[in-house]
Amino acid sequence: KKKGKDQYAVFEPVMRESFQRHLEMEADLRRAVLRHEFELRFQPIVRLRTGEISGLEALVRWQHPERGMIPPLDFIPLAEETGMIVPIGEWVLREACREAAQWNAQRDPASPLSVSVNLSAVQLDRPDLPEVVGKALADSGLPARCLIIELTESLLVDHRQETLGRLEAIKALGVRLAIDDFGTGYSSLAYLRRFPVDIIKIDKSFVDDVGDVPAAAALTLGIIQLGQALQLSTVAEGIEDAGQLSELTGGNCELGQGYYFAEPLTSEAMQELLFPRS
Ligand code: C2E
Ligand code: MG
Ligand code: MG
Ligand code: MG
Repeated sequence: KKKGKDQYAVFEPVMRESFQRHLEMEADLRRAVLRHEFELRFQPIVRLRTGEISGLEALVRWQHPERGMIPPLDFIPLAEETGMIVPIGEWVLREACREAAQWNAQRDPASPLSVSVNLSAVQLDRPDLPEVVGKALADSGLPARCLIIELTESLLVDHRQETLGRLEAIKALGVRLAIDDFGTGYSSLAYLRRFPVDIIKIDKSFVDDVGDVPAAAALTLGIIQLGQALQLSTVAEGIEDAGQLSELTGGNCELGQGYYFAEPLTSEAMQELLFPRS
C-alpha cells in the first residue's frame, strides 16, 4: 500500500490526462452522432478468377471537425462501450443498403452487387436487430440476398444464448452471414457447426505471408478447402500483390479484396469505378 501511494503520485497526471481525453472523445462522439459526422467508404470484393466486382464492403469513417478523418479502430471500441455503436451501426446499415440499391438500379439486374456490413456484438445484443435489418432492406429496396452481415470470431465465441436466435431471424430474411478475420479467434471450428454461416473471410495476417511463408500458405489453402467442404464462399482479405493473388487463385479461393485491386473508396469514386463516364 505504501508503494502504491508512491506510484499513484507518479501516475496521477498521466491517468488524469487520459481520463480527460476519454471524456472529451465521448462528448465528441455524442455530438458526431447528432451532427452526422460519419461517412462510408466502399471496398470492392472481386471474383479472383475473372477480376469482376461481385460486391462491396462498407467501412465507416468519422470526419472529426478538428482532428480530421478518424479510422474505425480508433473510435468503435468507445462507441461500443458507450452504446453509441447502436445508432452509428444502424446508420451504416441503412446507408450501405441505400447506396447498394442505387448502384444496382444502374446495373444489369442479372448480376447485382452485394454489400457487406460489419456488425458489433453490442448490436447483436439488441432484440430489435432483425427488425432493424428488415427495415433497412425494405426502405432501400435492396433484396435481402444482396446484404451480407460480417461478424467477428470473438463475437461468436462470447455469444449469448439469444444471439443464435437473432442470427437465425436475420438469415430467415434471406440475408447472408460472413465470419470476418477468420483464423484469428481461438475456437474457429466449433462455431462453424453452430452458426448459420455462408462466407468465411480469411484474415489478412494469413494472406500477408501466403506468397513466401510455407506454413502461411498451407494454412490459407487449408481454410479454403475447409470452406469448400462446408460449401461456404471464401474471401481473402488484404491482398496487396500479384504473388498473393496467384497463390490464392491457384488454391481456388473464390473472392478477395485488398489494395492490389482497390482501397476503400468514397461513394463518388465507387460510382466512377462502377460506371465510368466517357
Ligand atoms: P475488417 O472488417 O476486417 O475490414 C478490413 C480492413 O482492412 C479495413 O480497415 C480495410 O481498409 C483494410 N484493408 C483492406 N484491404 C487492405 C490491404 O490490402 N492492406 C491493408 N493494410 N489493409 C487493407 P478499416 O476500414 O480501417 O476497418 C478496420 C476494422 O474496423 C474493420 O475490419 C472492422 O472490423 C471495423 N469496422 C469498419 N467499419 C465498421 C462498421 O461500420 N461497424 C463496425 N462494427 N465495425 C467496423
Ligand atoms: Mg469486415
Ligand atoms: Mg477482416
Ligand atoms: Mg480486420
